[in-house]
Amino acid sequence: MTDRKAQLATNLARVERRITQACAAAGREREEVTLVVVTKTYPASDVRLLAELGVREVAENRDQDAAPKAAECAELDLKWHFVGQLQTNKARSVVRYADFVHSVDRLRLVDALSNAAVRVGREVGCLVQVALDAPSGSVGGRGGAAPDDVAAVADAIAAAPGLRLAGLMTVAPLAGAYAGKPRAAFDRLMEIASSLREAHPAATMVSAGMSSDLEDAVAAGATHVRVGTAVLGVRPALG
Ligand SMILES: *Cc1c(COP(=O)(O)O)cnc(C)c1O
Repeated sequence: MTDRKAQLATNLARVERRITQACAAAGREREEVTLVVVTKTYPASDVRLLAELGVREVAENRDQDAAPKAAECAELDLKWHFVGQLQTNKARSVVRYADFVHSVDRLRLVDALSNAAVRVGREVGCLVQVALDAPSGSVGGRGGAAPDDVAAVADAIAAAPGLRLAGLMTVAPLAGAYAGKPRAAFDRLMEIASSLREAHPAATMVSAGMSSDLEDAVAAGATHVRVGTAVLGVRPALG
């Protein structure tokens, strides 16, 4: 094993242990939680090593990095998740490789993704990103629809050709009432997810929790945790 592969294996084992312990503490089965490894800023060679180590779900947040990386890794048995803020003009590229887009937060983006998915003949799973601290009618500073606007975006996804409404995603807010309270934030997301499922029973994905707060997300009921740093290492600051 190369040094890098051994390092990734050690980190993955540590994250796996954290998820297993969090599931046990919450009385949940380990199978209820899917680990999505966020490979942003790391090279395709790392994605390949992760695949060799059994990772099946990876995430990226910038199309200009993700598109070539996904192309280099096309023969690997991986699902690609797009988790970053997304401009409508990138929709055509993203739908070529993304199995899931976690960051759908406005109607114009739903239209752009739908048109693009139909054009390439793919079905893309979409999650509504929720900005728990955004006032209704606005988009959060790091993206996301205000809680009051989630139903409208979800209904639009459910009605859009080429898209499938998969669930909800959030990032624990750094400011506002939920700052420093990821468990409260994720509990609130679960409430919004429950009411969403009344209208859309198949929208079961709840994507929450990162390296620093995955235990809180598992405790709250997340189905998908998105972990970068704890697997790949601290990223250089993004330009
Ligand atoms: C980078 C990123 C993550 C992973 O964050 P870590 O703290 O590195 O685990 C999760 N979700 C989103 C939306 C991200 O952009």
